[in-house]
Amino acid sequence: MSTNRTFTMIKPDAVENGHIGGILEKISSAGFKIVAMKYTQLSTRDAEAFYAVHSERPFFGELVEFMTRGPIVAAILEKDNAVEDFRALIGATNPAEAAEGTIRKLFATSIGENAVHGSDSDENAAIEGAFHFSGREIF
Ligand code: GDP
Repeated sequence: MSTNRTFTMIKPDAVENGHIGGILEKISSAGFKIVAMKYTQLSTRDAEAFYAVHSERPFFGELVEFMTRGPIVAAILEKDNAVEDFRALIGATNPAEAAEGTIRKLFATSIGENAVHGSDSDENAAIEGAFHFSGREIF
């Protein structure tokens, strides 16, 4: 996959709080093109696999429970420098530390329930995109 793509999820908290539209508007306004998107819900097995890198962390159980408790929006986004620019758009993991105007500052409530996911590298963007989408779902 090319390096101008990143992967995102609008997490269950943001969906529950009615922020799908607001977050997609921020993403579009920042110049990201949506090349794949679906409304879906992670199973426990999905969430454990997706977050396997965090399996030894004390918050892992809480993270899996949170990410499976309701639907999410998963998407692949395209833009020059997508991974880095999207991390800047979403802001710090903890919304209390996120910069003004970032998605997490605007829409997140806590370090755990932080509204959106954004891939942290080109390699993970490709892995995470392939986790959720088949080739014919990417445009
Ligand atoms: P990210 O790359 O900014 O999403 O942050 P990390 O990769 O460090 O963590 C992945 C996800 O785990 C975060 O987005 C949060 O949803 C969750 N998380 C991280 N730290 C904590 C924590 O201290 N407590 C809880 N409950 N969840 C956390």
